Amino acid sequence: MKEQTIALHEGYIKDEQGTMAVPIYQTTAYEFRDAEHAANLFELRELGNIYTRLMNPTTDVFEKRFAALEGGISAVATASGMSAIFYAIANVAEAGDNIAVAKQVYGGTTTLTGHTLRRFGIEARYFDIHNPKELETLIDERTKIILFETITNPSIDVSDIDEVVKIANRYNIITCSDNTVATPILCKPIQHGVDVVVHSASKYTTGQGLAIGGIIVESKELKDKIIGNDRYYHFNEPDESYHGLVYTSFPLPPFTLRVRLALLRDLGAAPSPFNSWLYIQGLETLPLRMKQHSNSALAIAKFLESHPKVKKVNYPGLESNPNYKLAQKYFKDAMASGLLSFEVEGREKAQKLADSLKLFSLVVNIGDSKSIVTHPASTTHQQLSTQELIDAGVPEGLIRLSIGLEDTQDLIDDLGSALEKI
Ligand code: PLP
Repeated sequence: MKEQTIALHEGYIKDEQGTMAVPIYQTTAYEFRDAEHAANLFELRELGNIYTRLMNPTTDVFEKRFAALEGGISAVATASGMSAIFYAIANVAEAGDNIAVAKQVYGGTTTLTGHTLRRFGIEARYFDIHNPKELETLIDERTKIILFETITNPSIDVSDIDEVVKIANRYNIITCSDNTVATPILCKPIQHGVDVVVHSASKYTTGQGLAIGGIIVESKELKDKIIGNDRYYHFNEPDESYHGLVYTSFPLPPFTLRVRLALLRDLGAAPSPFNSWLYIQGLETLPLRMKQHSNSALAIAKFLESHPKVKKVNYPGLESNPNYKLAQKYFKDAMASGLLSFEVEGREKAQKLADSLKLFSLVVNIGDSKSIVTHPASTTHQQLSTQELIDAGVPEGLIRLSIGLEDTQDLIDDLGSALEKI
């Protein structure tokens, strides 16, 4: 099946009601047929619904549909993008281990890996996504996962996936790509050899800024990397907390199986069935929306690039952009998503510009159908000094835009008249 068909149909089998929309199974628990059935489900002799912290029929459709879009074999949905990232790491790393993380990642991922996980005894080692060879100097026998973003937020860089995967495979280490900004429509990291893909479903998946959620997708090939690999001994040895279950011996994809059975069981960041239903609605139009976001962003980037008051535009779809070649290599039909940034002369002008925009809302989010403007120096990066802002690649005059689905010319006109005012 092609992408747009998967986005509409995968994972849903209509029941006797013939319901066209996937039903919302708003329930906490499920009745067992009898005591034996209950025991069978708990012992995994039979698969079925037990409790919504572990599984839910509405969430199951979302998971199957998303796994198919990413070209993966299995998925587990979570309550947020951050919990998806945390579970992907906690599934493999424990106190005394380390993880390799790209420097250019979402701020929450930096604080999770650099601060919260450090308190758990897990050390994050950072590498420059423009120089994946740095990984060679960071990796050792206790490196459990390599984490990077396909398109980075907020720096809007494009990762050279093949380079990261090549090094990871040399050491048999799991790779994990946060594909939130690119979405599976632009890029399927699993097709390039990535083992695990994570997402914030709060962005392009809902597409309308409706709900916080996340998802973890596992590749078919990951099982082979884990089986007999000492680095991942806890997948190959009996799990005492699950009656001695050996995840790699069970006939289900081991990574997502363990997230569900161990992490959702013990930590519980499960999505609400209603939110899963919202993500399903979002997926139906994701391929169409990503085309429009990307086309519109490219036209706007070109407009900004030609404007005398704009010092610099950062959009991987522009030929002048250092990420252009990688975008052409990895992204379908040269689409480059809806995120771009540009620089005007200084903080005051940037703030005035943000205030003058009528169609763009001043919000710290991305991937909404409504366009969003952010001035990082006065919001997400407010605590940084002028020099620190420059070092972080966030000059005071930088404006970030998340291009929505409004008419492109209306957005250009709005930006044009705001630029006239500064
Ligand atoms: N990953 C990326 C690339 C993000 O941009 C974000 C949020 O902005 C997250 C993860 C975190 O997702 P959530 O807000 O759903 O927890």
